[in-house]
Amino acid sequence: MHNFQPTDKVKICKYIESGVRFFYNGITCCCVNTFQSPIIITAEEMKNGNVTYELVVQRRKELFEKVNGLRDGDTGSCLHCNLLMEREYKDINFEYLGGHGYVSGFNIQHLTLCNLRCSYCYFTKVNNFKPAIYNNITEFINLFKEKGKLIGGNWIEFNGGEPTLLENFDEILDYLIKNNCGTVCLFTNSLKYSQSVFNALKENKICLITSIDAGTPSTYKKMKKVDGYIKVLDNLIRYKSSGTKTSLFALKYIICEENMNDDDLYGFVFAMLLIRPSHVYICPDFPYGDREIPYESVEFGAKMWLLLEKYGKGSTIVYIQSDDMKGDPKFAKFSNDIRLKYKELKDKMDYDEELYNIVKINESLSNNAELYNVINSYENKLNNIQNNINKLAWWIPIRKWRDNFRNKMLNRNKE
Ligand code: SF4
Ligand code: SF4
Repeated sequence: MHNFQPTDKVKICKYIESGVRFFYNGITCCCVNTFQSPIIITAEEMKNGNVTYELVVQRRKELFEKVNGLRDGDTGSCLHCNLLMEREYKDINFEYLGGHGYVSGFNIQHLTLCNLRCSYCYFTKVNNFKPAIYNNITEFINLFKEKGKLIGGNWIEFNGGEPTLLENFDEILDYLIKNNCGTVCLFTNSLKYSQSVFNALKENKICLITSIDAGTPSTYKKMKKVDGYIKVLDNLIRYKSSGTKTSLFALKYIICEENMNDDDLYGFVFAMLLIRPSHVYICPDFPYGDREIPYESVEFGAKMWLLLEKYGKGSTIVYIQSDDMKGDPKFAKFSNDIRLKYKELKDKMDYDEELYNIVKINESLSNNAELYNVINSYENKLNNIQNNINKLAWWIPIRKWRDNFRNKMLNRNKE
């Protein structure tokens, strides 16, 4: 290591010091949208189980030397990144893991395997769906924990691929929660039901984001190549019935050519009014390369926004997700255009007249759902009582006495 003086100015970034991203081909320090730092520990090194605390610290220092021009080698996106700053050498510390309350510094996305094939997904486009090469993520975090160098309060993005397909998904989730690593934001397609997700939601320990992108089973199947719409809604209703008060239970609609029609618009809005997620994210399809975001998706998104806001009665926050990506002028334009269109629609449309039926159906759905829950809970209680009486009756040796006992207890003697 170069012999720096304490007050020497050096280029550094918080993520190089203490970030981690478990990626499918190894470990990097960050993932800032399209920007990524280079691999510092390979997937093979992780798989072989030879990674030590000292090795991780040494590799971070090597990357630091590379970005400061003191060593040759891959610097990924670091030299073009706005987050690379000048600081005094004495303020730098490579010994810790975590401590980032914001996106990008603690990511788990080390598999691309998925049970869907979304048309807009990069992994679908390049047909790259693979299981994780390494699975010992908790061991890596433990290297720091054992030395008292694990800092909590992180915003942990756990995605993939589909994370619930990991063999040790429950183990990783439990570890992150039990060790207070931070807020786990789980990106799942919710096609596979997970009891540990339900439990964590019930205890308000995780946030959940699911991209539904359709309002009809046929469009869902067309876009994702799996007939899973009903199953996904069913699982989301179950997750929501945990009574979770998590700050983010977000359902998402990526507006693409295939799902930009009235059937899907109204189907999705109905589903949201029933499930009542904390947030609905509206997002345009990703405009890779020369592609522009079509104006129809602005109109479609604005209409959805208005319907959700009006009939969600404040239960759902509508979030325009392109706001997160305003570095790209195409997303910035979408954010701006959708606000203008939303305002225009709001000013001129008479929703009370035109959409009377939505209000009615929504209200009856909510009322029926509550009633259904009450009836269901009483039915369950009654079944339990009957089961217990039947079990007790088997201890009575003579059949006639047994039947009398059952009839009395279950009130079957109407005379
Ligand atoms: S400088 Fe940018 S690309 Fe490099 S680790 Fe920091 S955030 Fe990531
Ligand atoms: S669920 Fe996610 S990982 Fe799977 S295909 Fe869709 S976008 Fe890709």
